[in-house]
Amino acid sequence: MVDPSSDRAQAATDAESAFMTLSHDRRLEILLALWDASGFSLSFSELRKAVGVRDSGSFTYHLSELQGHFVAKTDAGYELQYPGHRVLDAIQSGVFHEQVAVGPVDLESDCRECGERLTFEYDTDYIARIRCQDCGNRALEWPFDPGGIAGRDSDAMIRAFDRRTRLIWSCALDSVCPFCAGRIDPELTGHVHEEGACVGVIEQLDRYDEYFARDHPAVISVDCERCSFYSFVPVGVVLLTRPAVVGRLHEADIDLRETPLWDLGFVVDPDAVTVRQTDPIRAEVMIPDANESLGYLVDGSLDVIDERDR
Ligand SMILES: [Zn+2]
Ligand SMILES: [Zn+2]
Repeated sequence: MVDPSSDRAQAATDAESAFMTLSHDRRLEILLALWDASGFSLSFSELRKAVGVRDSGSFTYHLSELQGHFVAKTDAGYELQYPGHRVLDAIQSGVFHEQVAVGPVDLESDCRECGERLTFEYDTDYIARIRCQDCGNRALEWPFDPGGIAGRDSDAMIRAFDRRTRLIWSCALDSVCPFCAGRIDPELTGHVHEEGACVGVIEQLDRYDEYFARDHPAVISVDCERCSFYSFVPVGVVLLTRPAVVGRLHEADIDLRETPLWDLGFVVDPDAVTVRQTDPIRAEVMIPDANESLGYLVDGSLDVIDERDR
């Protein structure tokens, strides 16, 4: 039997040595020069010129440290490898060195609690917030990278936030970590009041009280087995990727592609969700904005049942 803690210790050692490889700014300059080059490849002399190092010995040393993992030696010279691309992607996301604040920017959307305008705000804690300045309603909050802000006007960054949050949620609900590709076992959890007692343990989940949708009677917890990704997803999000639901809502005048998440009542409105049973768990999600009465049941396997088919 493999001891997972020794596996983890080995992974930490390996990761530390990979990070140490990047610990000299000259090495990042080499990666960046290859990234800028056509085909991500340069000859030795082109690469040295691009990085602008006079001391050949030191340049050769730093290049050799990157070689074999971040950079490969080819017939034509040196080529950036997948791990090198991923290092640069992480840098370009801006989370290591940029702190940006935006807003509040008024949205076209109304608060479901009080009817005032919702706003978009992005803060230096890397969280984008869709909320109501009047009543404090937190419609949606999720981490967003500074890369989503740079080079976009406010409409475009708000749309990018909507798109990226959907992508992360749908990937996590499909059991794949959107950050490290590791395993996630999404778990529908909720509570219901039965005979005066609260059944279900949703409030005991780690960090649940910080979650924007903590007033929802059920959520899906997602916890990556490999990296630090841990969060909750509103139950209604399951419906976004079910073709039968997408088609049905289209007929009911709800365009799931064009409507931002915070305008989808079944995603952000706690009143749209009811726990129908706890063992095994089943949550009902109503569609408050449809032009007819529509409801779906979501079970513990995240299977979706149209209530009209029951
Ligand atoms: Zn409000
Ligand atoms: Zn992960």
